[in-house]
Amino acid sequence: MAQLTDDCFAQGGPLMRVEEARRLLTERITAVTDSERVPLTEALGRILAEDVVSPVNIPPAPNSAVDGYAVYHADLDPEQETRLPVAGRITAGQQDLPAARRGTAVRIFTGARMPAGEDGGPETVMMQEDCTLEGETVVIRPGIKRGANAREAGEDVSEGATVLHAGQRLRPQDVGQAAAVGRQDLLVSTRLKVALFSTGDELREPGDALGPGAIYDSNRYTIHALLTGLGCAVDDLGILPDRLDTVRDALDGAGGRHDLIVTSGGVSVGEEDHVKSAVEALGQLHLWRLAVKPGRPIALGQVGRVPFVGLPGNPVAVVVTFLTVVRPLILRLMGGQDAPPHTFRVRAGFDHKKKKDRREWVRARLVGDPSGALTAEKFPRDGAGILSSLVAADGLVELPEDLTRLEAGAMVEFLPFSEVAQ
Ligand code: AMP
Ligand code: MG
Repeated sequence: MAQLTDDCFAQGGPLMRVEEARRLLTERITAVTDSERVPLTEALGRILAEDVVSPVNIPPAPNSAVDGYAVYHADLDPEQETRLPVAGRITAGQQDLPAARRGTAVRIFTGARMPAGEDGGPETVMMQEDCTLEGETVVIRPGIKRGANAREAGEDVSEGATVLHAGQRLRPQDVGQAAAVGRQDLLVSTRLKVALFSTGDELREPGDALGPGAIYDSNRYTIHALLTGLGCAVDDLGILPDRLDTVRDALDGAGGRHDLIVTSGGVSVGEEDHVKSAVEALGQLHLWRLAVKPGRPIALGQVGRVPFVGLPGNPVAVVVTFLTVVRPLILRLMGGQDAPPHTFRVRAGFDHKKKKDRREWVRARLVGDPSGALTAEKFPRDGAGILSSLVAADGLVELPEDLTRLEAGAMVEFLPFSEVAQ
């Protein structure tokens, strides 16, 4: 298994732009996972670890795209109806085909092979809805193009073509494509084994009683879901108290058995924030201060040789830093392509002032007007602790570093959660 270099998370400047963070991850983080073969039914969401080359043409032979009649275009009268005797019938999957003759039509069904025959065989299919049948004679309207409704061999995929590429995450249609070229299994990256902790004396497990000053641990569940969505195998290791020795021992114990350790909380600079000191004692730690809002410093480092991510405690900062840093990091660790997610242009439904030189994400919901155009409506409360604002949102409006003032009606980039939170 590959190992990261000791200084892979080292960085200098006080405030790092998102692009810079992405560049560092791309340059320094390599895959640490192995690969394994999985059946197609278990391949969804996994990262492909091989190029898939088609050994066949799809379709393998010329065939009909509709139910109808295979004809020679040259037999058709361009000005008026043509009457042709029906000679032969071909269904999908039929092995032995009748030979076609000029001046006749062959009854044919969707997916059935085009017959060979005189003059190279018919090349055009008349849809049955556009014909009438009089006994054994088919009456064909004028106006059909040569080759209409017939599929060529290899028009979808040609033999030898690479249909799927190493590093891509498999979507339902990709799994289907693998089956279409005859694969029954695929080589994928092994799941990244992630140890997950939350930290804080105030945290309680959902289902337990809440004492004074306590809150339920929500981050661990949000992060668990985000990690699972990326295809990680998550080991939920519960809540750690705000005690240096306990945190240190727990992280030390998790190191040997996992590919990555993720925590939330306890990485600010208060004296109750012990995660930072614990990781420093076990390896090394760098605080990445990203030029983003909402956001808090994110701690990146290594516990022994195992990469470590310390997410902030605030629930909204957790999600935003996960999407900007942790998601690309995990995709790299699993050998995935880390192309930035697609954003979409929508109209801003709000005015907004922002600080220059930092990227800001505004939680927003999309509202359609009768013309079908989409407007992003901002959630009224935008504190970094307000998880319900994320629940109400469809995604994030991404405001670039150099923007300082946004006016309602301007076009903005919108990042739907569906692009990243899976
Ligand atoms: P911290 O970074 O530990 O100082 O936490 C910052 C804020 O996030 C505090 O208000 C914490 O109570 C809150 N917080 C920390 N961890 C969690 C968690 N797992 N679930 C919900 N809120 C949390
Ligand atoms: Mg805390």
